[in-house]
Amino acid sequence: MDLSFSEADQQFREEVRDFLDAHLTEDLRRAAQRTTTVFADKDVAMRWQQILVEKGWAVPQWPVEYGGTGWTITQKFIFSEECAKAGAPGLIPLGLRMLAPVLFRYGTDEQKSYYLPRMLAGEDYWCQGYSEPGAGSDLSSLRCRAVKDGDDYIVNGTKIWTTHAQFADHIFCLVRTDDTVKPQAGITFLLIDMATPGVKVEPIITMANDHEVNQVFFDDVRVPQANRVGPENEGWTAAKYLLEFERGGGSAAAGLKVAAANLRKTATEQLVDGEPLITQPGFARRLNAIDIRVASLEFTEKAGLARLAAGGSPGPESSLMKNTSVELQQAVAELMLEAANYYAMPHANKISMNAYNDPWVGPEFAETVTPRYLNSRAASVFGGSKEVQKNIVAKVVLGL
Ligand SMILES: Cc1cc2nc3c(=O)[nH]c(=O)nc-3n(C[C@H](O)[C@H](O)[C@H](O)COP(=O)(O)OP(=O)(O)OC[C@H]3O[C@@H](n4cnc5c(N)ncnc54)[C@H](O)[C@@H]3O)c2cc1C
Repeated sequence: MDLSFSEADQQFREEVRDFLDAHLTEDLRRAAQRTTTVFADKDVAMRWQQILVEKGWAVPQWPVEYGGTGWTITQKFIFSEECAKAGAPGLIPLGLRMLAPVLFRYGTDEQKSYYLPRMLAGEDYWCQGYSEPGAGSDLSSLRCRAVKDGDDYIVNGTKIWTTHAQFADHIFCLVRTDDTVKPQAGITFLLIDMATPGVKVEPIITMANDHEVNQVFFDDVRVPQANRVGPENEGWTAAKYLLEFERGGGSAAAGLKVAAANLRKTATEQLVDGEPLITQPGFARRLNAIDIRVASLEFTEKAGLARLAAGGSPGPESSLMKNTSVELQQAVAELMLEAANYYAMPHANKISMNAYNDPWVGPEFAETVTPRYLNSRAASVFGGSKEVQKNIVAKVVLGL
C-alpha cells in the first residue's frame, strides 16, 4: 500500500480544489451543512451527482468502462478528503455504492448495461429491501415470498425500515423462493420497479421527527425473472457481498476528520465561565481521543481501499470500520450537544428548520446539534447492529 503524496498527487489535489471552488455552489454547501439525517436530501444529492457526472468524477470506484475514473487509491482518498473539507453533500450510496458492486460481480450483461447508466444519470433512484418485521439481525429468516408464474415471479410480503423508499422508483429485494432448505439457501435477489401495481409505501417517522424510513408492502407484485440477480436461491451470497460495501468500503474518516475539526473550533469559541470550553480537561480529553481514533480509522480505510484496488472486496473488516465510524459519529454528536449547552434545547427537525423565519436562538451551529444527535443513535442499528458487527469481528476477523 503506497500512500505517499507525490508531486502529481499534489497537483491532483489542486485540480480537485479548483473544481470544488468552481462547482460546489453555496446553496449545495449550505444544504449539506444543514443535513441532519443519514443521507442528504434527494434533490441536493442528485444535483451534486449531476455536476460530478458531467465532470466524470461521480463514481471513482466503478470500472472505467462504466464511468469510473481509474484513479489510484491515493487519488480516491484525496478526492474524498477534499470533498469533505469543502463541505460537499454525500451522494446517496444505495445504488452507486451498494447495488452497483453487486451488479458488476453478479449481474447479467443486460442488467449492467441497462441499470448502471440509468443509476449514474439519476434516472433510477434505488432503495434497499432487506429487513422485515422479524428479520433484521437474523436476516436469513426473511419471509417476503416470490413464487414463479410463467416468465415472472409473484411477490408478496413486506419490507421495513426502507430508507428513502418514499423517493425511490426501484428497490433491490431479498425474497424467499424456497422454504424447504436451510434459510440462507432459499433466498433470491430481485430488482423491482416500484411503479409495478401492488407496491405500497408507508412512512415511519423517527424520534428525531424525520421521515427517512418506510415500510414497503408487496401485494401480488409481478416481477420479470429477468430482474433476478444471480441464480435462484443463491441470493444470499450477493446479499452478503452488498453488506460489505454498506458497512465499509467508503471513506467515513474524511468526513469525521472535518466534523472533529469543526467541533474543536466550536469548543475554542464557546465560553464556559469566561474560559473556552476546550480548556476543560474532561472535554479536551474526549476530543483528543476522537482525533486519535479517527486517524486509526483512516488507516484501516486506506488498507480497505488498497484491497479493493487489488480486486478484492472490503471484507469482514468492514464490520470493524462500521462500528468505529458509528461510535465516532456519535461521540462527535454528543460533544456538539455539550458545546451547545442549553441552546440545544430548541430542537427543530430540518423540515421545521427550513420553515422557520425568526432568528435562531443562540449560536448558528446549535441549530443542527439536537436532530443530528438524535439521528446518530440509529447508526448503532442500521446496516447491521453494533452487537452483530462485533459477532462478525469476533468470528471472522479474530477467529474466536
Ligand atoms: C434508520 C434506519 C435505516 C434503515 N434502513 C434500512 C434500509 O434502507 N433497508 C433495510 O433493509 N433495512 C434498513 N434498516 C434496518 C436495519 O438493518 C435493522 O434495523 C437491523 O439490521 C437490526 O434489525 P432489527 O431492527 O430487526 O433488530 P433485531 O435484529 O431484532 O435486534 C434487536 C437487538 O438485539 C440485538 N441482537 C440481535 N441478534 C443478536 C445477536 N446474535 N447477538 C447479539 N445481539 C443481537 C441487536 O444488536 C439489537 O440491539 C434500517 C434501520 C434503521 C434504524
